Amino acid sequence: MDHFELKNGVLHAEDVPLPIIAAEVETPVYVYSRATFVRHARVFKEALARLDNPHIAFAIKANPNLAVLRILAKEGYGADVVSAGELDRALAAGMKAQDIVFSGVGKTASEMAHALEQDIGQFNVESEEEGIELSAIAAAMGKTANIALRINPDVDAGTHAKISTGKAENKFGVPFHKAKAIYLRLSRLPGLNVRGIALHIGSQLTSLSPLEAAFIKAGGLVKDIRGGGAAVTHVDLGGGLGVTYSGKDNPPSPADYGEMVARVTAHWDVQLMFEPGRVIAGNAGVLLTQVIRVKPGGGNAPFIVVDAAMNDLARPAMYDAYHEFVAVQPNGRHMTAHIVGPVCETGDTFAMHRETDEFAAGDLAIFRTAGAYGATMASTYNSRGLVPEVLVDGDRFAVVAERIKPATILAAEHVPDWLD
Ligand SMILES: *Cc1c(COP(=O)(O)O)cnc(C)c1O
Repeated sequence: MDHFELKNGVLHAEDVPLPIIAAEVETPVYVYSRATFVRHARVFKEALARLDNPHIAFAIKANPNLAVLRILAKEGYGADVVSAGELDRALAAGMKAQDIVFSGVGKTASEMAHALEQDIGQFNVESEEEGIELSAIAAAMGKTANIALRINPDVDAGTHAKISTGKAENKFGVPFHKAKAIYLRLSRLPGLNVRGIALHIGSQLTSLSPLEAAFIKAGGLVKDIRGGGAAVTHVDLGGGLGVTYSGKDNPPSPADYGEMVARVTAHWDVQLMFEPGRVIAGNAGVLLTQVIRVKPGGGNAPFIVVDAAMNDLARPAMYDAYHEFVAVQPNGRHMTAHIVGPVCETGDTFAMHRETDEFAAGDLAIFRTAGAYGATMASTYNSRGLVPEVLVDGDRFAVVAERIKPATILAAEHVPDWLD
């Protein structure tokens, strides 16, 4: 459920008509609903209520906007970060260092030192080599790093190949059959408190069965490691729960997910940790855009050329992702069209042969379900500006990320004297 609905024939974000935001901030612009973020955060938490003290860390990469993080911090969420930049955002948003988990396959030595300095809660270590390096850095600083070893359970998440992370050929985690030995070896190193395992098999999962299969394997490994004489007090089950992009998606509800987790982990005797991203943020945002013109196509469908492009919303170009496209003021008529941006790439196509509202030049439209992996993936390709973000709360709204204009980007570039 979200808060982007038609009222008197005009799409609103909560109680704010979208044309008002378009007039004031201009398009393209991401629009987020605070009430939706809060609702999703609570629904997910509620779904885990029967577990003993679960730790929930929002996967910041899904939507790192500072105001968004502040909303989630107030809901008691920690953060799953994958870079020093994300770590600093989480702290700036008011998240507690102890509630921050540092994931990622390429943490640098300076990022590790920075995170140790801040006394973050846990490092999810992705290889034995990384664990050895972290041990040396922590020991030299006189610190002890809590770590979970990320395992690769070799389970097919059944999602798009580019967001599948738990198959043996993916770069993430240590091979399942080596995990116990690596865990035991890392447990003997100074500067480390090896306390658990972590897994995250992919994103936009629309079935619970791959998650359940991976969790069952993880449960077996916990037993094995304990049999080897080491303690396991934490298991981080990652994120990955899918959301509804089109009527065809039918993702499991957080409640169903929570029920499955409670059943599978009933006798693990650990603190469970979670890293939801998309399920919290996806439906809490839309990308508001304006039709530049409708151009006749060579085939039988015209091109609706909008002012948003692949640099603003990369998911269709990167993952062939589907985003619902609807008029802000629908006139009741429909058309079949291709929906494209202005960037000079054929990949800058949001949809082909889409049955949609009827559009003419100047009309406003939204791409729905753009709150996760939207603005955060934006680039300045084609010397376009960086898309701004607006947060709505009831009948008020604020710009929570300014548009970075092409002139600002140009001003950061320099021509050396010796070229003249
Ligand atoms: C991306 C990521 C997540 C979040 O995934 P969602 O599908 O957005 O829930 C969680 N954990 C890790 C380690 C990730 O890389």
